Amino acid sequence: MRSVQSQEKARARKVLRRLKVEYKKTGPFVEWSTPLELLVGTILSAQCTDERVNRVTKRLFHKYRSAQDYADASLEVLEQDIYQTGFYRSKAKYLKGTGALLVQKYAGEVPNDFEALLAFPGVARKTAHIIMAKAFRVFTGVPVDTHVLRIAPRLGLTKHAEQEKIAKDLEALFPKEDYLSVNEHFITHGRAVCIPRTPRCESCVLLDLCPFGNR
Ligand code: SF4
Repeated sequence: MRSVQSQEKARARKVLRRLKVEYKKTGPFVEWSTPLELLVGTILSAQCTDERVNRVTKRLFHKYRSAQDYADASLEVLEQDIYQTGFYRSKAKYLKGTGALLVQKYAGEVPNDFEALLAFPGVARKTAHIIMAKAFRVFTGVPVDTHVLRIAPRLGLTKHAEQEKIAKDLEALFPKEDYLSVNEHFITHGRAVCIPRTPRCESCVLLDLCPFGNR
């Protein structure tokens, strides 16, 4: 007989397999072509949609091409340049601080090091996991954003409500190489079907696997 833990793992993996079939294409997410752009875009995406971030960074990445450019920027000008992403005063400080730290400690390159990334202003665990996974293909943990935070408990994949505890529970259920995929598929599903107030359970491919949908 299979243990409860292995049954839970099997159910979790079935969830992800179904989502992978349902959403051949995930996103949209923050667009980037270098680790620096990914870091900047991810910092800007706090409390802002990825679409809006991408509109802003189209111009921003043209103007600021290196860590030094952010370090040298006038805060007032940087604030104007990122104004549309919201919380622009804090975010401008984060970007300037990030540029300065990159120049001082890492010769302007984004470090391939989870713990080092946590020292950057505006970078918490979720952002650091995303940078590590997308820029370096190193899967350090499940990035828990607002969609993962909502959907994982609905699906009974965690009993917790706190970001770090949810991440731990998910990391025990999925193999490392799926950590980013969990994040991206839950986000896509959370935007389309498992929306915040009134999830569309009747048209959800996960209905038979979901305790919330079968209350
Ligand atoms: S059945 Fe409902 S609550 Fe469960 S994942 Fe689907 S939409 Fe979300």
